[in-house]
Amino acid sequence: ACANALARAKQHYRGSTEFHHAELSLKETQRRNLLSDLRLALTQQQMTVVYQPQFSLPDQQVTGVEALVRWQHPTKGAIPPDEFIPLAEEYGLSAEITEQVIQRCTQELAESGLLGHAIPRVSINISAVEFNSPPLFERLTHMLNQSPRLSPYLQIEITETATLANLQHSADAINRLHRSGIQFSIDDFGTGYTSLTMLKDLPVNEIKIDRSFTRDMMNQSQVAAIVTAIISMARAFDLTVVAEGIEQQDQLTLLTDMHCDEVQGYFMATPMPITELIEFIGQTA
Ligand code: C2E
Ligand code: CA
Ligand code: CA
Ligand code: CA
Repeated sequence: ACANALARAKQHYRGSTEFHHAELSLKETQRRNLLSDLRLALTQQQMTVVYQPQFSLPDQQVTGVEALVRWQHPTKGAIPPDEFIPLAEEYGLSAEITEQVIQRCTQELAESGLLGHAIPRVSINISAVEFNSPPLFERLTHMLNQSPRLSPYLQIEITETATLANLQHSADAINRLHRSGIQFSIDDFGTGYTSLTMLKDLPVNEIKIDRSFTRDMMNQSQVAAIVTAIISMARAFDLTVVAEGIEQQDQLTLLTDMHCDEVQGYFMATPMPITELIEFIGQTA
């Protein structure tokens, strides 16, 4: 009976690993297909950009917009950035994406005449790999120098992992761009490992409190205490603090009471194409 059980176990084990292999290769095939589609999309300039307004508290004036990339796949429909950005990073395509985002922002926002006026600034997201790779960073600097209609109003959002991966190199890179007038924001603040020392050493203008905190602060008093602490720390470092992912009035009320500087989220405005943004700004003005 014992030998039988062993044989069965072996059988089962073999079956499950085979199944596992089949599943892996299916995933791998899907990944390769998505990668080749992504390459094609980039050569055909299929990437578009949507803009999500940010607002000051308590008066709720538009302080800027965050540019978010969008990919409408010809057959699969919209592919979320969380799916294709990591792929782009892994295969060295993130600079390409940044380039197209900068191009769109230049064409659409600079063209609108609102930038620097009704829309004081625009934030773009930059991948960690672009900061930590010298050739990619050179390319980014070059791109920004070629965009004089955009760069004076530009803020770069960089995630905590990016600043941490290679702090010395990132600090040099950030300092160089900062000297040319570009502002910096630490995205998803609280989810990584940014220390107070790092914030002191980097020419950062802003931190963005991650959506998980603005969500959980509503029913966890400890999380609310963390948000309060981040806000007062930001104040001590003379940083603007933006709370992300505001979906309800009670979050907005609490953040106003906490003296948070700015807010962004579906409750105030969702990310929208340029035509809608122009309309939206027209209504709020
Ligand atoms: P992120 O930089 O943290 O961007 C905020 C994400 O939250 C966006 O998702 C935005 O649409 C969404 N969001 C805004 N308000 C709310 C809200 O009230 N509730 C909820 N649940 N979500 C909200 P999106 O556009 O899908 O982007 C996801 C991530 O992909 C971004 O996170 C960013 O890390 C990355 N990403 C987006 N665009 C770019 C880009 O142009 N370049 C790079 N390198 N990464 C990008
Ligand atoms: Ca961001
Ligand atoms: Ca974020
Ligand atoms: Ca993020």
